[in-house]
Amino acid sequence: MSLQAVAKRFADEAAAWEYVERLRWDGKPACPFCASENVLYLAPRTDGPRTTRTGNKSYRRVWKCRECKRQFSCLVGTIFSGTKIPLSKWLMAIYLIVSAKNGASALELQRDLGITYKSAWFMVHRIREAMANGDSGKLFGTIVADETYFGGKPSNRHGYTTGHGGQRRSTKTPILSVVDKETGEIRSTVIPNTKYKTIRSALEANVDLPRTTLHTDEAHHFDGLAAEHHAVNHTAGEYVRGDVSTNMAEGFFSQFKRSVDGTYHNVSKEHLGRYAREFDFRYSTRRMSDGERAMNLIHRADGAFLSYRGLIATGPVALGSRSRPSGRTSQQRAGAAWLPQTSYRPAQ
Ligand SMILES: [Zn+2]
Repeated sequence: MSLQAVAKRFADEAAAWEYVERLRWDGKPACPFCASENVLYLAPRTDGPRTTRTGNKSYRRVWKCRECKRQFSCLVGTIFSGTKIPLSKWLMAIYLIVSAKNGASALELQRDLGITYKSAWFMVHRIREAMANGDSGKLFGTIVADETYFGGKPSNRHGYTTGHGGQRRSTKTPILSVVDKETGEIRSTVIPNTKYKTIRSALEANVDLPRTTLHTDEAHHFDGLAAEHHAVNHTAGEYVRGDVSTNMAEGFFSQFKRSVDGTYHNVSKEHLGRYAREFDFRYSTRRMSDGERAMNLIHRADGAFLSYRGLIATGPVALGSRSRPSGRTSQQRAGAAWLPQTSYRPAQ
């Protein structure tokens, strides 16, 4: 889809709200605070969008829970929570980011969406957070495990030691990736070193080892960890033996490195993990269409918000840390002209 087509499809703010509601609730709206489905849609009193206190039009769709009496929208608890950026722009940003092979920078979003750099940066940050969210339990079955190194001299990048590590330059950062051979799902972890203990705990966090056949290279730090283990001997020039190889991980590493070099130039050690998870998402969803990938990301947006609590604690709807008096929102205190007075009574 071209940018024009994307813009056309998501330009309608009211449609964007209905789209996200449908994706999140699938026709069954539920309270994000108490999970009750006994909820009521608070329709604007007049047709069309309500007007905010500052005079802008708002297409926000607000619901009320009959059980806990709190108000909510489909954005509560997601990466969109508390946003002042129109939802249509969020959807466009998501589409642009997931459909670009190497991602899109905040600068590109600023230009394409006509928003401030600050807003664009914030959106990129939150969309990445969603990409890192929504892992579906530990991987098992036939799993490829391999590590690579970032930083240091390029000529040393693929250098392997067969011992327990510790001989590498400290400027290099190892990343351990595990790939499900059947589904192509990948998980990457930045690790401090490649000692046996470190590798084992990074593997255990992502892989159900007793139910797994591990495919690796000859590095000894993979020995004895899984139910079954087959290794190819790279130092002896062996890269494939039967169905055993680490090619999937190698392919991922080279794409990841090309993207980091080409798009981000230099990624600091602290941010490497976040970029790795972004590329995990791209790799794991590579067989999907751009539209499917965008929907997949919006599903992951649900719950990704939690790790952001600190960042948005001062936002208008901070899940679980609401500082305002319960039951009454700032809109209600301001008069709430858009609320249907017949069906709504503020909680006492
Ligand atoms: Zn509730």
